Amino acid sequence: EQLIREVEIIPLEVVVRNVAAGSLATRIGVDEGTPLPRSIVEFYYKSDKLGDPMVSEEHITAFGWANPQELDDIMSLALRINDFLSGLFLGVGIRLVDFKCEFGRLWENETMRIVLAEISPDCSRLWDIETQNKLDKDRFRRDMGGLVEAYQEVARRLGIMNENEPPRPTGPVLVASSDAPK
Ligand code: UDP
Repeated sequence: EQLIREVEIIPLEVVVRNVAAGSLATRIGVDEGTPLPRSIVEFYYKSDKLGDPMVSEEHITAFGWANPQELDDIMSLALRINDFLSGLFLGVGIRLVDFKCEFGRLWENETMRIVLAEISPDCSRLWDIETQNKLDKDRFRRDMGGLVEAYQEVARRLGIMNENEPPRPTGPVLVASSDAPK
């Protein structure tokens, strides 16, 4: 069940990294798994046609995808989300290596604020702290097998999937926001 708010999406993929992996490891030539001196935020312009090219704050403000104040909000939200999620996963023995998220403008009457618009474990790298085992979609992308088991392991550790959870009897049900629990 999800409550949905419509936002004006900002055409950026915002990637936060704590450990070198994937395209960063390739781009700057460091071994995957090297801890970063501090968390790094990167921006990619959302364009399938162009293959989501990496862009700088200069490009973002010059082309008007977001203004400097919005970009500040995006940066600080992205880092807060990273702190929160890193702690959450650390508590269940998982390192949050990196993740991608997206932001949007939420209008309420005449006021606008920047809010998180998309985030998912499917857009994250999650490694077991003890074994460094990958518990994310790299298992699929790198033909390692065990994808479903890895996703289930993450869900189990977070306590959102029970060992013998019975199948849900019905599909998703649309509820009006006024019916939603307060
Ligand atoms: N990511 C994503 N969608 C994209 C690009 C990246 O969800 O279109 C996520 C990816 O799963 C990883 C992080 O963003 O958690 C950083 O990805 P990276 O730049 O290393 O690219 P990759 O080599 O994984 O494609």
